[in-house]
Amino acid sequence: MNIILMGLPGAGKGTQAERIVKEFNIPHISTGDMFRAAVKDETPLGLEAKSYMDKGLLVPDEVVIGIVRDRLAKDDCAKGFLLDGFPRTVPQAEALTATLHELGREIDYVLNVDVPRDLLIGRLTGRWICPVCGSSYHTLFNPPKAEGVCDKDGGKLYQRDDDKTEVVAQRLDVNIAQTQPLIEYYSGHGVLRTIDGNQDIDGVFADIASLLRG
Ligand code: AMP
Repeated sequence: MNIILMGLPGAGKGTQAERIVKEFNIPHISTGDMFRAAVKDETPLGLEAKSYMDKGLLVPDEVVIGIVRDRLAKDDCAKGFLLDGFPRTVPQAEALTATLHELGREIDYVLNVDVPRDLLIGRLTGRWICPVCGSSYHTLFNPPKAEGVCDKDGGKLYQRDDDKTEVVAQRLDVNIAQTQPLIEYYSGHGVLRTIDGNQDIDGVFADIASLLRG
């Protein structure tokens, strides 16, 4: 089963990726993880990728396409794979189609874990931190007993700058603009499946699993 997993920040893509690869016994190919490992090991690829990652930019298509092509040729991908974080651009999607075609294969499903933008903003801006002990709370998922106050030491909770609404909204809008052409590309290829991400983790996974089991 050859799968691409898509979802905006906060949609729960990482959690679902872990469950899918475990349940269906296929490798998890995350280009972000591959770049982070290369940066950590200070390989030539890592040094090149780091200059882009540090600025919040995409690594050039030809670099990403090269590492994905090498990875897909490995034996453990023979029975399928889950791509996460790739493709991010239409040229990457086209290169992937061509690479798989050479291998006599194709993408079976593009799973788009869909959560409305305003709910994502709620999920992504809900984190509050205690300046005294560092405990982290979430207004939706793990609220403190008294609003704005740490349960453990009474510290006055604060919000990190990158969790603030304007910053989160901007990040989401950049992602939405990047993702839209890919949704259209895969919709045109008839493999796009929209998963309702506005459910609990088990509910989202149940929908994915039943779709993949056909
Ligand atoms: P991620 O963990 O998927 O958000 O990826 C972290 C960073 O790695 C991104 O901000 C990019 O700089 C780079 N990256 C990961 N995947 C890709 C991709 N498919 N195309 C370009 N850059 C990527």
